[in-house]
Amino acid sequence: MGYIIKGEKHDWELVVGLEVHAQVISKAKLFSGASTDFGAGPNAQVSFIDAGMPGMLPVLNEQCVEQAVKSGLGLKAKINKRSVFARKNYFYADLPQGYQISQYDQPIVGEGILVLDMPDGSTREIGIERLHLEQDAGKSIHDLHPQKTYIDLNRSGVGLMEIVSKPDIRTPEEAGLYLKKLRSILRYLGTCDGNMEEGSMRCDANVSVRPVGSTELRTRCEIKNVNSVRFVMQAIEHEARRHVEVYESGGTIDQETRLYDSNKGETRTMRSKEFAHDYRYFPDPDLLPVEFDDAFVQRIKAELPELPDDKKARFTSAFGLTAYDAGVLVDEKASADYFEEVAKGRDAKLAANWVISNLFGVLNKQGVNIGDSPVSAKNLGRLIDLIADDTISGRMAKEVFEIMVDTGKAPDAIVEERGMKQITDTGAIDAAIEKVMAENADKVAQYRAGKTQVMGWFVGQVMKATQGKANPAVCSELLKKKLEA
Ligand code: MN
Repeated sequence: MGYIIKGEKHDWELVVGLEVHAQVISKAKLFSGASTDFGAGPNAQVSFIDAGMPGMLPVLNEQCVEQAVKSGLGLKAKINKRSVFARKNYFYADLPQGYQISQYDQPIVGEGILVLDMPDGSTREIGIERLHLEQDAGKSIHDLHPQKTYIDLNRSGVGLMEIVSKPDIRTPEEAGLYLKKLRSILRYLGTCDGNMEEGSMRCDANVSVRPVGSTELRTRCEIKNVNSVRFVMQAIEHEARRHVEVYESGGTIDQETRLYDSNKGETRTMRSKEFAHDYRYFPDPDLLPVEFDDAFVQRIKAELPELPDDKKARFTSAFGLTAYDAGVLVDEKASADYFEEVAKGRDAKLAANWVISNLFGVLNKQGVNIGDSPVSAKNLGRLIDLIADDTISGRMAKEVFEIMVDTGKAPDAIVEERGMKQITDTGAIDAAIEKVMAENADKVAQYRAGKTQVMGWFVGQVMKATQGKANPAVCSELLKKKLEA
């Protein structure tokens, strides 16, 4: 079932397109040699170009062009071998040039595809409209002085990729999945670090609604600069409900830019939406069109890493994992690499289970990344070996794992130190069984009279007698043999 907002007059569906501004990973800015390092003092990384000094000429950074092409290839998109930089004219205090150098009708990357991994294991394709390169603006700081606004131009001129989706998104959840997948792809490619909290990936959502069954596109509102996946999903939901209320009460929606207030859980007007013609776009006369050949694209293509979709397909076919498990593992490259190291030469499904259920559980609880995991892939692999060769039972393995988390020690050492080796020696288990049977003749009689449910009780007693170290399978088998003798 789709996502439907019930009204009195209609059932409504959601139509969403997302625009993501992703900061390009590059040492220098898009048109100047100034550094892009995060955290420098205010205005420490500003060239004359970034400060909009008259007479300065921008010089295109080839690294940013490569990153855009690489991102385009990761989105299975059309790469335009000729693209044009244009001036988008507007005034703002943190935009000293008086215009942003962007791309307009001839972007560097055209239509592509992004595949969503739905929670039920299915997939859904969302169209990519375009990806273009543009400059970031500086930062206005309003809270350092009661009457003044400070300007920090360190960010001015940093390269951004604006990635625009088609209006194919139909639920807030799909918007969340889209952002996570896009972030995952860009991180695999090394073209953007995807950190929404630090602002290196920012999302604007274009939201409208329409009666279910209709194919029209109604007036949309743009919700600007939402800084987390969760807030994007919430903002879309609130905005869609507002549209439904307006339409149902006979009103109309004006095209405008809105802000999401996550404390109040509502969007509010920021400014009436500009239309493209308001910006007076024209090709930047300081810059030649960007042109490259097939060889340039092929070289970048040859360097592409295995991307999440391909990795997921390989994990399901080569390891027999479910689509869901494979999707979880490939989300971050570091997790996928960790899993592959654990699974190498071992039961891959068991390995996936330990990584997803046990390890990820601990990482989530401790709030740490897989790179800082208290348990190394090598040690988790060894733990699985100890289960496979019957040194410890699955139940004991959980205990050993907890100790590994706390101490960082290798599983073999823990099992040795604490005497946790499982008893598979039938002689020792036999002795324990005989003792339990001798002391509980009544239960033995019950079993032999046909009340076979007492088996569970017997297993429990024998486990207790061996401090939980008897191999449960061996134990049940021997018990059965003796009780039925
Ligand atoms: Mn933009």
